[in-house]
Amino acid sequence: MPDTVPVLIVGAGPVGLSAALALSKVGVEVRVLEAADDVDRSMRASTFHPPTLDIIESLGLGERLLACGLKVETFDLRQHDTGEYARFDLFAIRGETHHPYRLQVEQHRYCDLAVEALQLQGVEVRFGERVETLQQDDSSVTVSTSAGTIGADWVIGADGAASAVRESLGVEYGGMTHTHSSVLVSTPFAFHEALPDISDITYCWSDRGQFSLLRLKNSWRASLYPGVEDLDEAANEECVRDWLAYIHPDAHDAELLDVNPYRVHERCVDRFRVGRVFLAGDAAHLNPPSGGMGMNGGIHDAMNLSGKLLRVIDGADPELLERYHRQRHTIVSQRIIPQASANRGRMGVADRDDQMELLSRYRDIAADEARCREFLRRTAMITSLREAKDIE
Ligand SMILES: Cc1cc2nc3c(=O)[nH]c(=O)nc-3n(C[C@H](O)[C@H](O)[C@H](O)COP(=O)(O)OP(=O)(O)OC[C@H]3O[C@@H](n4cnc5c(N)ncnc54)[C@H](O)[C@@H]3O)c2cc1C
Repeated sequence: MPDTVPVLIVGAGPVGLSAALALSKVGVEVRVLEAADDVDRSMRASTFHPPTLDIIESLGLGERLLACGLKVETFDLRQHDTGEYARFDLFAIRGETHHPYRLQVEQHRYCDLAVEALQLQGVEVRFGERVETLQQDDSSVTVSTSAGTIGADWVIGADGAASAVRESLGVEYGGMTHTHSSVLVSTPFAFHEALPDISDITYCWSDRGQFSLLRLKNSWRASLYPGVEDLDEAANEECVRDWLAYIHPDAHDAELLDVNPYRVHERCVDRFRVGRVFLAGDAAHLNPPSGGMGMNGGIHDAMNLSGKLLRVIDGADPELLERYHRQRHTIVSQRIIPQASANRGRMGVADRDDQMELLSRYRDIAADEARCREFLRRTAMITSLREAKDIE
């Protein structure tokens, strides 16, 4: 008997696991294949936005994830050298979400909880099995892996930026890569004590360049933009320490838990669906991390797709699946990537007078109830989810 499964999910990252949870919860038989031997525990996303928390609650992991993280109700845009800031309070959108705050927690904690929940439900999450290529006809997909061949009715490629599924489909990954590297530094240094008036999420302009400070339960992560191309140079310890000392002199000798240099991309596939195969998350799109929309947007893909796939498995016209492509392609290419790119550009403004003008504009928004709510809906990705629903 050939090995077959109704839905095969490639990649046990936050996106593949969300799709697996959403489908298995309603009785669809799924299997997850993951190339690595374990969940990726490197320092990557740490911000879960309010509607993503609503989704995770619906998947049954809300309370457990909340227990792992830090709830952050406000975020600041701040001019570091003057100490002036605009503060946004997510309480303003309490009527539109069960979670009027961001949860700061490492993405791998969500993945660990998801794998555990799936295994308890009897879902097979196969670690150490890499998907190599796939082929499809009108009725099924044949997937070649490092361990053999699997047949599937449907395949979700959530296998990250270097997606083998996307490669196999021949789908182009258009866009650009920013020249300058960024570096993510994790430290137990207590920035909230050193800079006592800052919010636990603070995006900074400074005379030296932009940076951001995000607090987790037991650490802070600083995103730095050292203005160099080479990844090793960006991660150079003395450079990193010099930057931290600029943020606060006492941070120079801070313990460094993790220093993760990376390149920033703006890319989106032109097809989220090819026949019986779908792309979701980083396999389909990449955006600057400013504003924390990469993982969140990917989980939104997973939920959009799972809902439609369930209906098609239950007998609806497969044409419904084209709507997944239209909705998510439009939202990612016209909303998420431009917004993340604008966030990066806004914080990259170098001239102090321009920074102060922007700061004053954001203070006006924060002080105006209706404009503040609209701004928060957009930054929390509530608007992009609502807009997606309206796309036929
Ligand atoms: C430094 C950094 C900071 C970030 N900060 C944020 C943030 O604050 N907020 C935010 O929303 N996003 C952030 N992101 C983006 C976020 O990490 C990604 O968008 C998210 O991980 C995408 O999830 P995914 O499941 O699509 O892909 P991944 O997390 O990359 O998971 C893909 C999985 O597929 C597996 N895989 C790959 N190839 C194969 C194969 N051939 N066969 C089987 N398995 C395979 C991989 O091993 C991996 O486990 C950040 C990213 C980086 C690099």
